[in-house]
Amino acid sequence: AKKDKSAGKIEDAKLIGITVDKVKDFSSWYSQIVTKGEMLDYYDVSGCYILRPNSYFVWEEIQNWFNIEIKKLGVQNSYFPMFVSQRVLEKEKDHIEGFAPEVAWVTRAGSSELEEHIAIRPTSETVMYPYYAKWIRSHRDLPLRLNQWNSVVRWEFKHPQPFLRTREFLWQEGHTAHLSQEGAMEEVDQILELYKRIYEELLAVPVIKGKKTENEKFAGAAYTTTCEGFIAATGRGIQGATSHHLGTNFSKMFNISVENPDGPEGSRVHAFQNSWGLSTRSLGVMIMTHSDNKGLVLPPRVAQTQVTIVPVGLTAKTTKEEREAINSGAKSVEQSLRDAGLRVIADYRDNYSPGWKFADAELKGVPLRVEFGPKDLAAGRVTAVRRDNSKKYEVGLTELATRIPEILEEMQVEMLENARADFDKHRIVVDEWKDFVPTLNAKNVILSPWCGVPECEDDIKDSSATKDDGEEAEQDERAPSMGAKSLCIPNDQPTLKEGQKCVRCDKPAIQYCMFGRSY
Ligand code: AMP
Ligand code: ZN
Repeated sequence: AKKDKSAGKIEDAKLIGITVDKVKDFSSWYSQIVTKGEMLDYYDVSGCYILRPNSYFVWEEIQNWFNIEIKKLGVQNSYFPMFVSQRVLEKEKDHIEGFAPEVAWVTRAGSSELEEHIAIRPTSETVMYPYYAKWIRSHRDLPLRLNQWNSVVRWEFKHPQPFLRTREFLWQEGHTAHLSQEGAMEEVDQILELYKRIYEELLAVPVIKGKKTENEKFAGAAYTTTCEGFIAATGRGIQGATSHHLGTNFSKMFNISVENPDGPEGSRVHAFQNSWGLSTRSLGVMIMTHSDNKGLVLPPRVAQTQVTIVPVGLTAKTTKEEREAINSGAKSVEQSLRDAGLRVIADYRDNYSPGWKFADAELKGVPLRVEFGPKDLAAGRVTAVRRDNSKKYEVGLTELATRIPEILEEMQVEMLENARADFDKHRIVVDEWKDFVPTLNAKNVILSPWCGVPECEDDIKDSSATKDDGEEAEQDERAPSMGAKSLCIPNDQPTLKEGQKCVRCDKPAIQYCMFGRSY
């Protein structure tokens, strides 16, 4: 009878787990990963999701890290209202043209129609800049650097995806005004580097820094820089975060100007502006990159729980004394790891089998499982098992405080290395058009010599759309076929050959551009 009971427990462990394969059915896999891993739940307004503590913790780690870094640069946090009047929203023409189709409006209060409809911010340039004009009175008020942590609403009609594309999303948006264009442009690069470090150092996700093409730049920007990521399982690119130089496009419209300290008496200059944002999309990229058929895999630096301790090897034959020795041993392991500054939980419940507890911890993505049983007790050690590759370590009880943090750090570093190897393997240089679509169809992104002409980019997109580019594209984008978009012009360029032509047209190539199907 006892045996049957424990078999029943293992069955349960299977029930709570992931039931679809990451490669065979990526969208159902992702949906199970985020819900069963308790990162997020679906909500009854389409495109909106609930961020549960497991994911919100990761977001807080990003906030903590980024706040420290931007404050070093002199950026201050603030908060602006979520509403913007129609008149102000429409002030910068290119900007509103880009955002108009996605703006959500408040048109009614209770049962009465509002005389003036009010927009919900899709981003806050137009919310903030009238006040920049008011506050910036002299060149001594520059640079002005404000950031806010908030949510924005973009009523997108593309297929929503948890974290990646949601109608309301959390982000930070930084908005700065500078006297010199060089100062502004330097900041654009500094922020982009911080974004790259969030992806790589916290989320263990490799990204490529680059510049967006004219077609893909932010509406109203002079230029847009970006960190581009890659989802190996689907072969698609994803825009990770963007840092825009706005030039004087907005400062002219909003009258943000000061007396020119270096010019003739009475002459005025418009401020050079930047805006930059990173959203909760980053969590989706992290989840898609690392997780597997057993559940979430979280990088140790951002995991809410870094270690779970599970007493093992207790059977019906175990004496009361032995049981107590194991449990109190496990408790002192727990205490030493906590004292070492780690985030630890221990699972002493005896109505669940160790197998069930293992599966539960794997589903939630806990980086390290520490087992403690009679053999460990006798040998004065624990057995630690890494979530990402199941590698086992025996760690002496006296070296827990140094060795366990080391193992977690090793895991963090190797997760990034593995993801980078995947991205590198699937980023392919293609010089000739005949290889373009086949390479794309083999789930790669492409680096191609390119002429830089917007019409040529449109042509590449149209010509690379195929009738059967797989179920994925249909399900995720609701598009019968998806062409390759330009992802970025990478800062790190392969050397262009003498006389190299554009991959698509007859014009000379001026640089390599990264193309890919994308989210
Ligand atoms: P943008 O203001 O359009 O440059 O967007 C800033 C960042 O927000 C982008 O780099 C994306 O990573 C992210 N983002 C844009 N749209 C969404 C969305 N619908 N859901 C989640 N993140 C988004
Ligand atoms: Zn071309």
